[in-house]
Amino acid sequence: MSRCAVGLGSNLGDRRAHLNAAVRGLSAVGRVRAVSSAYETAPVGGPDQGAFLNAVALVDTAHTPGGFLRELLAIERARGRVRETRWGPRTLDLDVILWNRQRIATSGLTVPHPRMTERRFVLEPLLEVWPDARMPDGSPITAATGAVAAQGLERLEMAIGDADWSTT
Ligand code: ATP
Ligand code: CA
Ligand code: CA
Repeated sequence: MSRCAVGLGSNLGDRRAHLNAAVRGLSAVGRVRAVSSAYETAPVGGPDQGAFLNAVALVDTAHTPGGFLRELLAIERARGRVRETRWGPRTLDLDVILWNRQRIATSGLTVPHPRMTERRFVLEPLLEVWPDARMPDGSPITAATGAVAAQGLERLEMAIGDADWSTT
């Protein structure tokens, strides 16, 4: 069994419905241990686009990393994800942020997610669900938060995931 942190993001259509559906999809590919609060974030990079709703889910899974990523991409497609411009608006984006404390570098998958430490919208919800998470070199994730403290981020009083995700 592997422990995986999955980053969830949406800035197109019914953002909350997309994130709820993502948690439902994740509960079919592993055991969802925790889902962070929802955070609203202004888009960084890419074209002019709407604000993001972001969250992080903690999932225990028996899949291989590559098999797990394929499942994530299928969940994205099921929510109508279309890849057009890089970093453009999307109904649903699911990223593998951490996989145990492993480093993974294959053609289709890089873990830890290469841009995670530059993004407050990843670090903050990640620490909510996995406070003692560490990078493969052993450094605590908490050590990375200072560098992104100036980025704007709003924690919403909004639960993500249907009430029964934790019982499946
Ligand atoms: P960013 O990676 O900066 O968050 P993005 O999420 O918009 O950008 P995508 O277009 O969703 O990028 O992903 C492109 C490809 O990245 C995916 O098809 C996947 O093969 C690859 N990829 C590599 N590492 C990861 C990872 N850790 N999580 C998800 N996808 C990854
Ligand atoms: Ca992403
Ligand atoms: Ca992605």
